[in-house]
Amino acid sequence: MNSTLAERLRAIVGAGHVVTDPDVLAGRSTDYTGRYRGRASALVRPGSADEVAEVLRECRGAGVCVTVQGGRTSLVAGTVPEHDDVLLSTERLTEIGEVDALERRIRVGAGVTAAAVQRAAGTAGLVFGVDLAARDSATVGGMAATNAGGLRTVRYGNMGEQVIGLDVALPDGSVVHRHSHVRADNTGYDLASLFVGAEGTLGVITGLDLRLHPAPTHRVTAVCGFDDLDALVATGRTLRDTESIAALELVDGRAAALAAEHLDVPVPTRGDWLLLIELAGETDLTERLADALEGAELSGEPAVGVDNTAQQRLWQVRESTAEVVGLFGPPLKFDVSLPLSAIRAFSSAAAALLLDHAPDAIGVLFGHIGEGNLHLNVLRCNAEQEAHLYAAMMKLIAAHGGNVSSEHGVGSRKRAYLQMSRQDTDIAAMRTIKAAFDPTGYLNPAVLFD
Ligand SMILES: Cc1cc2nc3c(=O)[nH]c(=O)nc-3n(C[C@H](O)[C@H](O)[C@H](O)COP(=O)(O)OP(=O)(O)OC[C@H]3O[C@@H](n4cnc5c(N)ncnc54)[C@H](O)[C@@H]3O)c2cc1C
Repeated sequence: MNSTLAERLRAIVGAGHVVTDPDVLAGRSTDYTGRYRGRASALVRPGSADEVAEVLRECRGAGVCVTVQGGRTSLVAGTVPEHDDVLLSTERLTEIGEVDALERRIRVGAGVTAAAVQRAAGTAGLVFGVDLAARDSATVGGMAATNAGGLRTVRYGNMGEQVIGLDVALPDGSVVHRHSHVRADNTGYDLASLFVGAEGTLGVITGLDLRLHPAPTHRVTAVCGFDDLDALVATGRTLRDTESIAALELVDGRAAALAAEHLDVPVPTRGDWLLLIELAGETDLTERLADALEGAELSGEPAVGVDNTAQQRLWQVRESTAEVVGLFGPPLKFDVSLPLSAIRAFSSAAAALLLDHAPDAIGVLFGHIGEGNLHLNVLRCNAEQEAHLYAAMMKLIAAHGGNVSSEHGVGSRKRAYLQMSRQDTDIAAMRTIKAAFDPTGYLNPAVLFD
């Protein structure tokens, strides 16, 4: 980066918020898993939407690429810079507004974490509808940019369904404020939805209005074991249509065994595959859960939690997978949605593919079974093996009717596979939108498109 641009950026955000230290930049240029690395020229931390817009204007004028960074929990290398970029971090956009309990909404800065929004909602007796294991780092700006899903999607939907207003700094340096104080508002294009899932390619989200939900008064949680994945999927299929469903999570028995061995997390019930079920509502739902499980081909007695402590213990089995997959070094990750009917066949075919390409690797499958949204994590897979395995696995996913990217987005890791899930005209339309907003292509240039 030339010294004139550096000086201008310092003038906008303050000298303390432009960092060029090589160690800091190296850390910030590496993805969450530690598998993918890039190169950056500076880290810039604007403190307001106007500062974000000014930074964008200066970088565009100087012909310098910008990569947007929120909590950097992307699992598709979405924050890894490839062009000696300026890294634009939202970490100072952390304002949290008052909860509007009447309208059930809250206005927050893009750099606020999911956990902070959950806490704010909780103090008003409400719930924020998106939860994920990265809650303490993932920001609502990044979650909107990737249209994140997670542990509560089966009940409340994805991030896009929580976003009811946005502030966005556009690549030309202007700022759009799209807020509405009424619930029904069809005035023109639904601009907010254009930026949700755009992965920062069309603008930088600086603030959001988020929908909140009433907190259920009763909750029951269970972990059931299955020896047959098809039997688990059949039970999941019935439960996902239950009105009070609050979570439906698949955990690979291998992950649970590794968590027991390495992390001291007890396995709550026997089975090659575990299903975590949570029902929540206004009445005691224990009976309803028992009814729903009648006829299910379980491999043992389900573990049921009716109080908070027992429920947390059961959730540990699911939550520990994030740590388990890192036990043998950076894991290789595949995020895929499959038709429920194809899950077992995919699981067997994926295991065979692993044997071919990385015989020592351990495949661990888990995820949000209600949406058929699964995470296949490959442990002990080196970079050379990855080079061959990645494309073969993407083909296998497509052959089973799956998509190449579910809740994590495309990032830079999957951009070469876009045409597996989108037609040429579809990709051309997306490129037209990108070119309209960012004709020079300087914003998040490594993301989404090849
Ligand atoms: C342990 C773990 C568990 C996870 N579980 C889930 C899960 O259950 N469901 C799920 O969907 N994801 C999950 N993820 C992935 C990740 O948390 C999500 O993709 C999250 O939405 C990213 O938020 P972030 O703030 O970390 O964004 P980052 O990683 O910083 O950025 C993600 C992308 O969005 C862009 N971006 C970031 N902020 C903005 C902004 N303000 N405006 C415009 N663009 C922006 C970035 O350039 C990048 O392309 C998990 C990750 C981890 C590490």
